[in-house]
Order: sequence, then structure tokens, then C-alpha cells
Amino acid sequence: MGQPEFSTSMVKKAEKLIELGLVEYQGLGVWFTKPIPGYNKSNEPHRVRADKMFNFSCDCQGYRIKEAKYKNLSSSVWPVCSHIAAVVKFEQLKKQKERLERERQRDANQCKFEFPQEAVHVSA
Ligand SMILES: [Zn+2]
Repeated sequence: MGQPEFSTSMVKKAEKLIELGLVEYQGLGVWFTKPIPGYNKSNEPHRVRADKMFNFSCDCQGYRIKEAKYKNLSSSVWPVCSHIAAVVKFEQLKKQKERLERERQRDANQCKFEFPQEAVHVSA
């Protein structure tokens, strides 16, 4: 298996999909990417799947053409598309957020200091 390589245009479109909140995790290794308004002719979402080895596949035409070429050995390029790029980035951001949230909670627990009693009972 080759390392997936995303082209600049794929990355750009993936960033747009994330920015507009059009990527949704459906569970069980399936994500939907909704169409970018005014960009796609179709209004159907694309379905991205990941197998247990985290090999991604997509139901869009671009991906299927590349997959067919890869399978019949007319291309050595591992098939990817902008939807897969969006899902990979989406998951990276989710992990990053979870890590920051954990760190914040840990810091919040450390900040529960004891307020000195003498400071509470200040005599007039
Ligand atoms: Zn796709």
C-alpha cells in the first residue's frame, strides 16, 4: 500500500468542507461529507468509509476511477479524494480537541487550591 498523497486542490477543498461544517461522523467507520453550496452539481452527500486497517474509500466518481486504475494496475497511485482528505483532517482535529480538553480539565483540577482561612476571617 502506498502512502496516500493529497493534492493541493484536494487539501483546499477538504479545508472548505471542514470550515463549513460539512463533515459528519455517522459511526461504524462511516462519514458523510455534504456538498459545498454552489460548488457541486449534486446535492447528495458523499460517503467515506474506513476499514479496520484505516484504509479509506469514497463513493464519489473521482475516487472510483482512481480505485479502478489502481486495482487493474494501470496506476500505482493509492486512490484518494478530497472527501477522504476532509475526513482525515476532521479526525485529526477531533483528536487534537480531545487532547486539549483533557489538558484543560487536568489544569482545572490542579487549580483548586485551598483558600487560606485567615483571609476569610478578616477582622474589621
Ligand atoms: Zn470522494
